[in-house]
Amino acid sequence: MPHHTPLIATLVSAFVLAFVAGMLAQRLRLSPIVGYLLAGVLIGPFTPGIVADQAIAPELSELGVILLMFGVGLHFSLGDLLEVKAIAIPGAVGQILLATVLGMGMGWLLGWPLGAGLVFGIALSTASTVVLLRALEERRLLETTRGRIAIGWLIVEDLAMVLALVLLPALSGLLGGHADPAAGERGIGLALAITFGKVAAFIAFMLIVGRRVIPWLLERTAGVGSRELFTLSVLAIALGVAYASAMLFGVSFALGAFFAGMVLNESKLSHQAANDSLPFRDAFAVLFFVSVGMLFDPKILLNQPLAVIGVFLIITIGKSLGALAIVRAFRRPPEVALTIATALAQIGEFSFILAGLGVELGLLPKEGRDLILAGAILSICANPLLFAALDRWQTRRDAAAAAKAEPEEEEVAPGPPLPEGDHIVLVGFGRVGSLVGQRLHDAGRPLALIETNRDHLEQARALGIAGVLGNAAAEGVLDDAHVTTARALLVAMPQILEAGQIVKRARALNPSIAVLARAHSDADVAYLLGCGADAAIMGEREIARSMCDSVGGLDRYFARKQEPDFLGPASAA
Ligand code: AMP
Repeated sequence: MPHHTPLIATLVSAFVLAFVAGMLAQRLRLSPIVGYLLAGVLIGPFTPGIVADQAIAPELSELGVILLMFGVGLHFSLGDLLEVKAIAIPGAVGQILLATVLGMGMGWLLGWPLGAGLVFGIALSTASTVVLLRALEERRLLETTRGRIAIGWLIVEDLAMVLALVLLPALSGLLGGHADPAAGERGIGLALAITFGKVAAFIAFMLIVGRRVIPWLLERTAGVGSRELFTLSVLAIALGVAYASAMLFGVSFALGAFFAGMVLNESKLSHQAANDSLPFRDAFAVLFFVSVGMLFDPKILLNQPLAVIGVFLIITIGKSLGALAIVRAFRRPPEVALTIATALAQIGEFSFILAGLGVELGLLPKEGRDLILAGAILSICANPLLFAALDRWQTRRDAAAAAKAEPEEEEVAPGPPLPEGDHIVLVGFGRVGSLVGQRLHDAGRPLALIETNRDHLEQARALGIAGVLGNAAAEGVLDDAHVTTARALLVAMPQILEAGQIVKRARALNPSIAVLARAHSDADVAYLLGCGADAAIMGEREIARSMCDSVGGLDRYFARKQEPDFLGPASAA
């Protein structure tokens, strides 16, 4: 090669290996995350073969964190954040305290000084943004109450870690590490005051200035009419605000990006901004896992197996039980408590940063950092399995509840009873489904809706439409809507591959059912028909048809307009 290209080499090796290992993991019915981590281990310095650049990889992965948090902000309003604060603040603080005590206990068992145990414990207390968001997104939980609580919780953890990163150098001398002379002079009180002041200034700045300037900027760019410039403005806002917030106010990139997204949430264009940043987000989130894998030295598993198991248990069991107890204490239903506990039963990026700082300050032994990394990798791998166990538990519980037919302590009011036969099953109550559902309901057609989104289901139920909460592609959900005795199935959701699965499943359960699905292109139409749909309706074609049909009306309108007694559009109708 003519010149040294570490960035390209790192990107290429990370993407290629992550793709191959991710596919392999998928084939083995494991989460692709396991594959991405493995790819990281393979290109890391502790295994033979290619070694990617260890400085560039974590920086690239930070881009994933920024874009993910920006995306979350786009779906989150200030009201949502304030709504969950009553549970998220005590929850996160309680969980951090518990994890810290458990970590300190483990440090004590390993014979470390108190300061080492403290850093170790704090590092075990915060969950990874990427892992949490991916898990919630995959289950479509981001916009549910439990998803919002988990995100609020994560934001409080994030703020606590920003504080810990600032305070640690100031406290280092006291805790038995290298004293930071600058911090010593300033004193802890001052360091704390400065940090709080900066975070408060950041929030005030975003809510007062950012809230006006950022949506204005996006709307101005959209007005220019260039798609390329629009996408660029989305990226520039997400990355620019995250970077500037970190540099000017000392908050994390993730927090800066979250606020950038949140102030855009009120703009009409937030939906498109989310779509535009999606491919970047997914690609860089993969790099996050690869870069975690790169840090991992598998030798620790052989040298310290018991300590690794101990760390793993603190993260997955200790922290979860704490979260579970706190959420239950707030009288939330068990499924909400379990989802939040599972989502937070892992550690990630902040833990590495804190552990790195601890080692640098002479507070944490190197072995502590290796244990944290091993705990992170194992807990990230275990997370999808825990979620799968949770899904199984929920299915069993729902089935048992249905058998007993007892009113459940549910987040959603039960709604009208489901029709049992000769009805129409509708999947999705979004932009298309809600129009279809309302029309059919107004026309008196018996209807059973299937929705993954609690809010949408609640809207439908408020209109008197019966429905079930769940993913129509998941085992048993179509049965719950009595698809076997239904007359027709209308699939009104935009995700084509999933829609295809739903069509196939419904066809297998009820060969004579009429199936209509929603498509976006000719290829989609062919795919859905291949899956067994009787018809696939393509939005663009229908718009064209409707435009043509309207031409006749326009002709009449203009003809009437020429007449002397024309009184306006109403008379031409
Ligand atoms: P829209 O994109 O506005 O047309 O909305 C699509 C709707 O379909 C949303 O309300 C989703 O929550 C819902 N939806 C998407 N996938 C599924 C699924 N697999 N099962 C049930 N509802 C779904």
